[in-house]
Amino acid sequence: MDLDEEPTHAKMAKFAWREVDHAEQPKREADERITDFHEIYSLFDEATIREQASRCVQCAEPACVEGCPLHNRIPEWLGLAAEGRYLEAAEISRSTSNMPEICPRVCPQERLCEGSCVIQSREEPICIGAIEKFINEYALAHGEGRVDVAPPNGKRVAVVGSGPGGLACADELSQLGYSVTVFESQMLPGGLLLFGIPAFKLEKEIVERRVNLLRHQGVVFETGVTVGVDLTLDQILKDFSAVFLGIGALKPKPLEVPGAELKGVIQGLPFLAQKNAPIALGLPPVEVKGKRVVVLGGGDSAMDCLRTAIRCGATDTVCAYRRDLANMPGSKKEYHNATEEGARFMFLTNPLSLEGNERGEVSGVHCVRMEFELGESDASGRRKPRPVPGSEFALPADLVLIAYGFDPVPFPVDSDLSRIEVNDWGATQVDADQRTNIPGVYAGGDVVRGPSLVVHAVRDGRRAAASIHRDLS
Ligand code: SF4
Ligand code: SF4
Repeated sequence: MDLDEEPTHAKMAKFAWREVDHAEQPKREADERITDFHEIYSLFDEATIREQASRCVQCAEPACVEGCPLHNRIPEWLGLAAEGRYLEAAEISRSTSNMPEICPRVCPQERLCEGSCVIQSREEPICIGAIEKFINEYALAHGEGRVDVAPPNGKRVAVVGSGPGGLACADELSQLGYSVTVFESQMLPGGLLLFGIPAFKLEKEIVERRVNLLRHQGVVFETGVTVGVDLTLDQILKDFSAVFLGIGALKPKPLEVPGAELKGVIQGLPFLAQKNAPIALGLPPVEVKGKRVVVLGGGDSAMDCLRTAIRCGATDTVCAYRRDLANMPGSKKEYHNATEEGARFMFLTNPLSLEGNERGEVSGVHCVRMEFELGESDASGRRKPRPVPGSEFALPADLVLIAYGFDPVPFPVDSDLSRIEVNDWGATQVDADQRTNIPGVYAGGDVVRGPSLVVHAVRDGRRAAASIHRDLS
């Protein structure tokens, strides 16, 4: 179809939100879903999709589009979905997103597209994410998920890292006719999508299907290759016209309290990778069954740790977070899913030290209650908590998972990657077009911004691809 043609849904009756109630995406019961790692949400049926999509009032200046980091053409595909024209809706959806079946599974919609929807001032917002997922799953099931690829233009581009930023950049450039090779240090491509995000949010087959679509359009994946160790930057720049670095931010922020070295105190990301990776990673085994688990932190990784521990047989899972629910960075949707599955949350609670037994194993977390300082906010704009004197208490624990976030891994000092400029916390410095200080080297995603959303990495990858194309044309 011509993506610029006047959509017929513009003539549709609007304001169905007055007659049609918001529907929740079908979700498995908590008792059932904690027995496996399969996704907890399923697709709406077609009648519900059409009804739900018809709730959109087709705003002339759609706030949802502004709220989506990819500026997805949301009202257009909602209008088409309301008419049952799912393949056309998906085609429009693919025009602005490289993984339109993945982003709706992992985006915190309440802070992005749906959180911006004008309807929510009167009613529940349009369920944009569920509809985006449906139309794209429908298209893929009908063999329509592929994109047109330009004839080869004779230029080669390397992508380092196969997480969402790398895959998006590879996809864009391959569509433009570039020969793209993706280098991945793990033995399977997918990066954070495969090793970091639990399958109950994003099943591994969904990521593999996306990687296979890229393979089909000519993208080559070289796995088990660590750039900076097996291959230098200069070697890549000799063979390729440009390189995009999408290597993520995988250096965990440490827990800096006495007892952090006790056995049974481990970082959340290796725990998630070990329990969720589709292949053996050679990480030390972590026994969870029958244990009391305390997770420290309040982001999405903390929710993932709690829910993974529950599925691995923990008897009690508690999240200790120093602010309150309103100031917690994790998605509210994931918070509700975690509580439904049995996780407990202790807000305004901070660890002072970890206690151990005679075998050097952690046995508890010595905590203090927190309160907010009046009128004070920190650099992130969130309210600043301070300890309440005399409020210390002990929280029993057999396993403590640290989920305080991540910084970019420093480039090895003896590697030529260390010529790339980084800021004082190790993030790669780029200009507005994702260019680093080294000509031909671009970067995006978590290595630039620190831990962030999948959809932000996709946006960076697209932006870098556009700059690479401009610079090489
Ligand atoms: Fe919403 Fe994320 Fe989809 Fe954008 S990519 S429309 S923010 S679910
Ligand atoms: Fe539709 Fe809400 Fe977007 Fe308006 S803001 S176009 S009602 S989804």
